[in-house]
Amino acid sequence: MSFTLAIVGRPNVGKSTLFNRLVGRKLALVDDQPGVTRDLREGPAKLGPLRFTVIDTAGLEVATDESLQGRMRRLTERAVDMADVCLFMIDARAGVLPADEIFADILRKRAKHVILAANKAEGRAGAGGLIEAYALGLGEPIGLSAEHGEGMSDLLAQLQPLAGEFEARAEESAPVMDIDVDEEGETDGDAPFAPTPERPLQVAVVGRPNAGKSTLINKILGEERLLTGPEAGITRDAISLAIDWNGTPFRIFDTAGMRKKARVQEKLEKMSVSDGLRAVKFAEVVVVLLDVEIPFEQQDLRIADLAEREGRAVVIAVNKWDLEDEKQDKLRELKESFERLLPQLRGAPLVTVSAKTGRGLERLHDAILRAHEVWNRRVSTAQLNRWLVGMLEQHPPPAPGGRRIKMRYATQVKTRPPAFVIMTSHPDAVPESYSRYLVNGLRADFDMPGTPIRLYLRDQG
Ligand code: GDP
Ligand code: GDP
Repeated sequence: MSFTLAIVGRPNVGKSTLFNRLVGRKLALVDDQPGVTRDLREGPAKLGPLRFTVIDTAGLEVATDESLQGRMRRLTERAVDMADVCLFMIDARAGVLPADEIFADILRKRAKHVILAANKAEGRAGAGGLIEAYALGLGEPIGLSAEHGEGMSDLLAQLQPLAGEFEARAEESAPVMDIDVDEEGETDGDAPFAPTPERPLQVAVVGRPNAGKSTLINKILGEERLLTGPEAGITRDAISLAIDWNGTPFRIFDTAGMRKKARVQEKLEKMSVSDGLRAVKFAEVVVVLLDVEIPFEQQDLRIADLAEREGRAVVIAVNKWDLEDEKQDKLRELKESFERLLPQLRGAPLVTVSAKTGRGLERLHDAILRAHEVWNRRVSTAQLNRWLVGMLEQHPPPAPGGRRIKMRYATQVKTRPPAFVIMTSHPDAVPESYSRYLVNGLRADFDMPGTPIRLYLRDQG
């Protein structure tokens, strides 16, 4: 079970440097070019025995420009909300500056756990700043040198007990009994899933370069809104755009815009793959946009698989359908490839569109809505247990080494994506193929196509 660490703090304190050290690759750019990393970036991190996800909020500028500052604030807040732990970084050499106070404020209000770090603390120059950091009231600061790798064991020492806590909590969240179940086994208290202006449906459009992401998003938005406006320069590398699409509030993650910028700057081009990955993390529904001329390329498969593993609802959209003459044959061929290459996404909607002409956008809209609805589906405990009895009768679990496996009770523990627990004797002895049988059964019998389904077998003791 892993957790998410967000590195926050004002520009130039060394966030990207630490990010790079934790991720072990040059995923974040260390760069003083303004605007280059004015965004969230994330990657898989490793520190001693710990594995976790790290988010870098590099380049969050506390600028004089009102709207920019607002944007940055929102971005920090988003990172803070996404994270289990925030590493708040100050520059030990510069001491605590007024800008640091702004971040400290956000963290005090919103963060679940804060680790305070004074970076650039190598040598003696950082001693003063380290002491000043105490005054922030965010606990005992650790002295770091992201550049030289000093203080990493102190960081580990602070993270480790938290990591243990997250693990324990993840264990707890699977069993069951704390869920409100009424007579019919209906649960309540779940937030309604229909998108509202306050909770727009979060969509990422991902796909290979030239699949038509920009064209599609432009078509959805209406050209003008994406390309112009008072904040055009910022909008192009903004991480998301809020729109009303056929009466549904949406927030669309514009990975294409980020890449367009990358075209201009050679160096950034190489980083663009991570944009798509990042967008997947933010999204509820991921639209994998394929080019009908070269569908299901490695890169498409990778990102679709990632979306599944991240538990996102997926819609496959085949673009440039206007170029296709043999539409019936092609569609059959596409569906066949889809089932063969992405079995983990069985039943996910596959729609054909032309971003250029706008044909099929209605279908795409509806497919996204439906995928979102399925992703939020809640099955009653009563129904589930009737279903479980049927499944066990139809095809009893094997008895490996003569040990009979009993499954007694099933319940849904969460949605988004749907996750189920079945209380089981010898859960470790249940073969993968039997779990798959159950998952496929859940999918078919409760009409949950395309959404990732999580199934946990818990020892009933
Ligand atoms: P960010 O804007 O917070 O992401 O900061 P960067 O990671 O881009 O670092 C800003 C500058 O501080 C770069 O020139 C880094 O080389 C430098 N820097 C980062 N970490 C350290 C450190 O531990 N010690 C020193 N002396 N400089 C550092
Ligand atoms: P991105 O890299 O994924 O953002 O792709 P773009 O939106 O820049 O599109 C790449 C190229 O494909 C451009 O030349 C578009 O005009 C073209 N294109 C995009 N969508 C369609 C479509 O539906 N039909 C056709 N024929 N061309 C398209």
